[in-house]
Amino acid sequence: MTITTHNLGFPRIGLKRQLKFAQESYWQGKITQDELLGIGAEIRAENWQLQKAAGIDLIPVGDFAWYDQVLTTSALLGAIPARHLPADGKINLDTLFRCARGQAPSGDCCSASDMTKWFNTNYHYIVPELSEDQQFSVQWTQLFEELEQAQQLGYNAKPVLLGPLSYLWLAKCSGNEFDKLALLERLLPVYADILNRLASSNVEWVQLDEPILSLDLPAQWQQAFERSYHQLQRRDIKLLVASYFGGYGNNLYTASRLPVAGLHLDAVSAPDELEKLADQLPPHKILSVGIVNGRNVWRNHLSQSVARLEATYAKLGNRLWIAPSCSLLHSPIDLDVEENLDPEIRSWLAFGKQKLAEVSAIAQVLSGKGDETTATLIATVDKIVEERSISLRVHNRDVQQRLQKIDQSWLQRSEPFAKRRSKQITLPAFPTTTIGSFPQTGEIRSIRRRYRQGDISAAEYQQVIQNEIAFAIERQEQIGLDVLVHGEAERNDMVEYFGELLQGYAFTATGWVQSYGSRCVKPPIIYGDVHRPEPMTVEWIRYAQSLTEKPVKGMLTGPVTMLGWAFPREDISRETCARQIALALRDEVADLQAAGIKVIQIDEPALREGLPLKQSQWPAYLRWAVDAFRLSTAVADSATQIHTHMCYSQFNDIIEAIAELDADVITIETARSAMKLLQAFEEFTYPNEIGPGVYDIHSPNVPTVDSIVELLSEASQRIPASQLWVNPDCGLKTRGWPEVEAALVKMVEAAKQARAELA
Ligand code: GLN
Ligand code: ZN
Repeated sequence: MTITTHNLGFPRIGLKRQLKFAQESYWQGKITQDELLGIGAEIRAENWQLQKAAGIDLIPVGDFAWYDQVLTTSALLGAIPARHLPADGKINLDTLFRCARGQAPSGDCCSASDMTKWFNTNYHYIVPELSEDQQFSVQWTQLFEELEQAQQLGYNAKPVLLGPLSYLWLAKCSGNEFDKLALLERLLPVYADILNRLASSNVEWVQLDEPILSLDLPAQWQQAFERSYHQLQRRDIKLLVASYFGGYGNNLYTASRLPVAGLHLDAVSAPDELEKLADQLPPHKILSVGIVNGRNVWRNHLSQSVARLEATYAKLGNRLWIAPSCSLLHSPIDLDVEENLDPEIRSWLAFGKQKLAEVSAIAQVLSGKGDETTATLIATVDKIVEERSISLRVHNRDVQQRLQKIDQSWLQRSEPFAKRRSKQITLPAFPTTTIGSFPQTGEIRSIRRRYRQGDISAAEYQQVIQNEIAFAIERQEQIGLDVLVHGEAERNDMVEYFGELLQGYAFTATGWVQSYGSRCVKPPIIYGDVHRPEPMTVEWIRYAQSLTEKPVKGMLTGPVTMLGWAFPREDISRETCARQIALALRDEVADLQAAGIKVIQIDEPALREGLPLKQSQWPAYLRWAVDAFRLSTAVADSATQIHTHMCYSQFNDIIEAIAELDADVITIETARSAMKLLQAFEEFTYPNEIGPGVYDIHSPNVPTVDSIVELLSEASQRIPASQLWVNPDCGLKTRGWPEVEAALVKMVEAAKQARAELA
């Protein structure tokens, strides 16, 4: 018996990020639309070829997108907001770009649609906007054209599209709030229409992604699944429903009973559901088991995977399919082209292409078809995994011993906030500060690059960065800010900077992953016990402080963010890894304090996004995340003021955890959503100090004094004025100096006015 292998989706950016460069060139008018379309077609052809060569039987089509796959779905369903449509009402490629970016080579500018995180990944999708009277119809034929392309090239194509319920769930209501489920009756006939067209192209299988099945769903949504799939059921096409990033949990029964031909399980995040599903699945259905992690970079332990699947295979026979756990959209493409890595670390990794070879090898061995090549592969992997488990690069006895020593006292500042406060720096009411970074000019970036390439000496580099720091300090004094920052000129990225100075982190040269649209990120890989060989920021901050009488904030990236924006280890828990990072940061806090720094900020913009998909798992996550932050900060004396920063304002549901961080001051984003924040504080009395961002740094517009005073006045109705700080809502590195200075001058003026009127 053979085992079918398939893939849920492949990265569309191209091995050399061709799609990014082509899209950006097109937006700038440097290439034509035909050229852009041609590059897209080439990338798809390469991707299909690569997947087939890796031994995959069913090749996904429909995973390619010009900006985002949810946006493509909106276009397919004819659900593009009216403001983005051209005069003739017909969706074209520029319509998609206008929707995503607010502008495109053709058509007028208009406000872009919202973008938000795709479940618990670092990918961002364009949020569909649906109105209460929303109509749907097939308006965009990209899927059918790509299917034709794949079939002409001879591939066994499996169209992939976002299912109706997940699509509705991810959408937001435009205009009034209403029950989105009410739109289902209008949406389903369009899905039926799409399936009709696919059936006429002779496809056997269609994959409908319903990742909301890994959430805790309200009862009506759960019930809607059965109804919907009943309506979509048909004889000439087999539907495979795929959920991922978590188990089915409470939806397991619903999912296994759906009137479809197959179900995909992410067996990496929900190993415990494998047996349940294999037992419960009705006899005619296939079970696709995602056994290779589609969103991390470690080699699969092949023989272990085969062993794990043996019982399932015995039960299901050829009704067992094998796949990666989720779309490979979240994985770098090909390790073969990577040259930056140490050979030992490299031997531990698998990127997209390698993962597909793993899927294929598992299927072959399991079904008894493994040849010599697979046997060698399996033996090699077993050896590598074993070597890694004892490698000194991974395991550091000092770190492990120190972890053992941690007890509750390490997590606790020596006095409560009320006592600490009077011992810390004295400041006027409504003190002003910024979030850390100042404009990263081309000059700064080029100096860092030249230093990296060895074109300039360490001494020269230090001099240039010191000049930048001196410049930033002088500007801030002139503007009249109260708590200054050094400006972060030495940092390319808030995680990479620290990762490069810590042991246990590795960086690739080619490991790009799409974050949104044409933006890609290259997450670092945490491969071993993390520790800090030497201080990371002390010299820069000490220098900055030497230039001014005003307090300068030390600036660090917190443990949860250092972990959350990296590919994590899988041989230890996230909690343990966060603690290791926290210990390294703790030493840095101690060193900064010893160097006379009175204020230290530890950014945690990733705290909220680490929340598990199922709410029932939130408390456990928040417990270790909060503890990791406290472990890194509690070493501070009462007189040292600890700040933290987060780039969002949705605090209502985690406000207690935020308070438990016990930072003396928290700065957050509010400018774009003042009301949300204020709501949270009506219900919860936040004990420490707080700086609601008073203007939006994402826009080049200079705020008015009045708008800032107004915001402070609103804030002071919910939060005592004595607890309020005045700051922008995020770092300023993407802006230019003229606008930054103009905006900060207004901000300082507004703070003075607030002192006179509100304090
Ligand atoms: N300190 C960082 C900066 O100012 C914070 C960035 C962030 O929160 N994303 O750039
Ligand atoms: Zn921020």
